[in-house]
Amino acid sequence: MNKEEIAPHVKEIARVLEGKVKEQEIEKDLDNYLNVYRMSLEASKRHIVRKYGGDPNALTKGERKMLSQLGLSEQSVDLLVRVMSSNTREVVVGGTPKTIQSGLLADEAGNTVKFTVWDVSKADLKAGENYLIRYAYTKEWSGQPEVHLGNRVVIEQRPQDEVKVPDTVIVPQTGSYSAPVTAKVSELKENMNNITFTGRVLALRSKEVETPSGKKAMFTGIIADETGKVEFTAWHDFGLKENEVITVTNAYVKGWKGIPRLSFGERGQVTRPKLKFPTNEELSQAVRKSIEDLERSGGASDVVLAGTVVDIKKGTGLIFRCPECNRVVQKGVCQVHGKVQQVPDLRIKIVVDDGSAAITAVMKREVTERLTGVTLKEALDEARETMDPEVIGHRFEEKLLAKPIELRGNVISDDYGLSMNVSEAKLVIPDVKTEAEALLAKIEVI
Ligand SMILES: [Zn+2]
Repeated sequence: MNKEEIAPHVKEIARVLEGKVKEQEIEKDLDNYLNVYRMSLEASKRHIVRKYGGDPNALTKGERKMLSQLGLSEQSVDLLVRVMSSNTREVVVGGTPKTIQSGLLADEAGNTVKFTVWDVSKADLKAGENYLIRYAYTKEWSGQPEVHLGNRVVIEQRPQDEVKVPDTVIVPQTGSYSAPVTAKVSELKENMNNITFTGRVLALRSKEVETPSGKKAMFTGIIADETGKVEFTAWHDFGLKENEVITVTNAYVKGWKGIPRLSFGERGQVTRPKLKFPTNEELSQAVRKSIEDLERSGGASDVVLAGTVVDIKKGTGLIFRCPECNRVVQKGVCQVHGKVQQVPDLRIKIVVDDGSAAITAVMKREVTERLTGVTLKEALDEARETMDPEVIGHRFEEKLLAKPIELRGNVISDDYGLSMNVSEAKLVIPDVKTEAEALLAKIEVI
């Protein structure tokens, strides 16, 4: 990117940083990350904002508005609303059938607006729930704005008490709210109901549980389709077998820290469809996700993501734990157990950004040793020699910061946002030759 192309992005970063940093400074940084570190534009911008203490989410967000402030042709707007009604139906667009969703949104001021979801895999708005909708746009219909949720939209379900709609708002009746929906693993979200799901059973075990009506067998396991894996619980004996492909109806989703879990019981039916389906081996691979996808689903089991290390968190390197409770101790003192015989450990906590969003990734000792090539014993020796336990953290920082990385593991979400429990990590060496060839090919076409 040349100076001219960089200029508007420098301006945008300067805006987010509220003039705290000189534009020349920002331009130098941006040029460096783009052209020396070869980070993507989005990741570079977010990294610079974070580096100077700004909020990277302020970069690409649309403007938050109340419904009464909506114009007739908003390009990108954020709304905090309650869904008053929601209908899913088939329409024909340009000769091909398409599933869309429409209904009514309301906000705390008691204003309402009609909405349409054009890509139900990006947004599934449920009546009675609150959402923060980002990157929506509006169009005019009979002189009123209507909110459209296209393929750029990002939705986040919000707590019930966050939007209190006045009683005066009239809720239209809708009959199709609980109509069965066919969903893939990647579309499963907490509190979904009446789902029809097809997948291959990758793992299965049975367990006896005590119920008020006596002993009962329940079954748990992992089921997968081409979009990912999900844990399931069957509260009824459907004669399930490992490796078979099943279609289950009337399933529902409960979540744990954002990781969806599929459940089905006596109200559901299991059939064995005859169809071509990915093999056990293909389905056992981790599915690649963008961090934005993970933000949307709130979590996932066994996924792969790739991004750039944009921050090294405190507590990376050689750490010491309480032998009683495993908490990290400071100077041999556990906040619960007082002075203890501390146990050394290695850990890495980083922030990875893939240009769409950021995630915290935590690596325990085994993963840290494999990634850095530094064992706990070597780390302890080096800390003793230099009399500085922080030397290891600094070494990890040098090795990882601003580097492209690929991570595999489970992703959860909690009050601190998304985090990955990393099971495998590797630094990605950018293939400069292929990039150069791709660039040349592009030039030839022009
Ligand atoms: Zn303790």
